[in-house]
Amino acid sequence: MRLPWRAAWEACLDLLLSRQPHIRIRTSMALLALSLMVASSLVMWMVARAGGASVSAVNIWALVSDGGLLAMTLSIRFGCTQELADPSLTIPQMLLTIASGAVAYVLAGEARGIVPAVLALILFFGTFSLNIRQSVAMGLYALAAFALAAWYPGGMANARGERLDLAYGFMVGIVLVGTTAISLRIQIIRMRLRQQNQRLKAALEEIRELAIRDALTGLLNRRHMQEVLWLEARRGERRPETMIIAALDIDSFKTVNDLHGHAMGDQVLQACAQVVGGALRQGDVLSRWGGDEFILLITDIDGAAAAELLERIRSAVEAMKIEGPGVTLRITVSIGAVMHRPGRSVEDTLELADQALYAAKRAGRNAVVIGEVGTSVMP
Ligand code: GH3
Ligand code: MG
Repeated sequence: MRLPWRAAWEACLDLLLSRQPHIRIRTSMALLALSLMVASSLVMWMVARAGGASVSAVNIWALVSDGGLLAMTLSIRFGCTQELADPSLTIPQMLLTIASGAVAYVLAGEARGIVPAVLALILFFGTFSLNIRQSVAMGLYALAAFALAAWYPGGMANARGERLDLAYGFMVGIVLVGTTAISLRIQIIRMRLRQQNQRLKAALEEIRELAIRDALTGLLNRRHMQEVLWLEARRGERRPETMIIAALDIDSFKTVNDLHGHAMGDQVLQACAQVVGGALRQGDVLSRWGGDEFILLITDIDGAAAAELLERIRSAVEAMKIEGPGVTLRITVSIGAVMHRPGRSVEDTLELADQALYAAKRAGRNAVVIGEVGTSVMP
């Protein structure tokens, strides 16, 4: 059970940050930036109160800086930026806060040494949203803004002041170079991680394919087909007698191997898989069960339509010509099929399909036998 204060806290957060996960993350980041800007404004007011800066200038500065960030935070929170390429407004936020930092550098006069630390914070904000090109551009923009601020006349117009000015200028430079370099390093690590992630995903997909497919024919392998049959049988429990399992076996396949070699045998298996697969309807599932035997699952079909489909498959294989080196081969298949009945195990249905297949072989091969009903479709 949820504690009432916890529910109230979550309701407040939902109100403040939104319930939508993307908007929530973006709003919380924008609020963090806004809070830091407001805290920096307080520091600037302290500087002004200590006589280090003009109060009215600091007021205008704070109004523009805090107001700008507040406006951006509200646009993010209320979803106005969703359609933009940069919905978290990272770039406009950074452009504003860097300009605001440069102005603070001018306004703070002798206290300008406080600004570089804030500049470092601002630049770190971009690390997780900007790409490498944008990070470098942002570093150059900050360099230009602070060079302009350092060049701006005023502040400390005596020899000691000028030397301090130089020291502060260097500090800004160090912060800029340091944060941009660290930021770039993190970007590169993130890029590598992204690439590794993509490679891992591709490898995982390949492993999955290898685990469920037969390498020679590309059809589902026996293990995966067993799972498919079991799942389909469970689904079929509620709509009985619409699932047919057929066993297909190439006739006299051993002679193909014996007369034309194993490679030609492989080619025959591939061609057979392709022709049978091509004759199927969408949703029918063909697998290589082992050797020259294939298991076919046909769903949502009645016995007569299934017999028609299997006969079409038989005659498509019979009509196929397989071109090998200096030889053109023709093959035939025998097919045994049976309706899966609710309450019967998949293994039992497979066994009955196998018996029907052997009935087709006994009947002279190149034939379709529907088990139980006893229908035999001869060429
Ligand atoms: P039947 O009409 O009774 O089915 O006669 P058959 O000669 O086809 O006999 P069977 O189905 O038992 O023969 C299967 C043969 O398939 C035996 C085996 O050497 C061959 N075989 C099994 N796997 C492969 C394979 O991956 N490639 C090739 N080329 N041959 C295979
Ligand atoms: Mg065979």
